[in-house]
Parts: sequence; structure tokens; C-alpha cells
Amino acid sequence: MPLVEPSLLEILACPACHAPLREDTDANELVCTSGTCGLAYPVRDEIPVLLVDEARRPA
Ligand SMILES: [Zn+2]
Repeated sequence: MPLVEPSLLEILACPACHAPLREDTDANELVCTSGTCGLAYPVRDEIPVLLVDEARRPA
């Protein structure tokens, strides 16, 4: 099961840097593909929460 619709994922971008996002199904997150940003956004009830304040910062 995808976290979000593939067609939706295609149009979503990281709100911090506008890079595309990829799914991390194990973590239930959408992860920024930018090497310098890399924020991970939670998906709650199949709704991606694309808020920088809610994002998990990479270690
Ligand atoms: Zn980003």
C-alpha cells in the first residue's frame, strides 16, 4: 500500500526547499530528496503533513 496516491506524490514538494519527496513506508513519512535538506514529513491518516514545524530533521 502506498502512503499517498502516486499522482499526488508527483505534485507534492518539500515546503522548505521545493525538492520532490519520496515515500518511506516503514517510517510512514515523506522524505525530502534534497541531500542538503532531507526533512521527513509525517503521514497521518493518509494525509501528508507538509509543515516544516512538524517535520523530523535528519540526524
Ligand atoms: Zn527539502
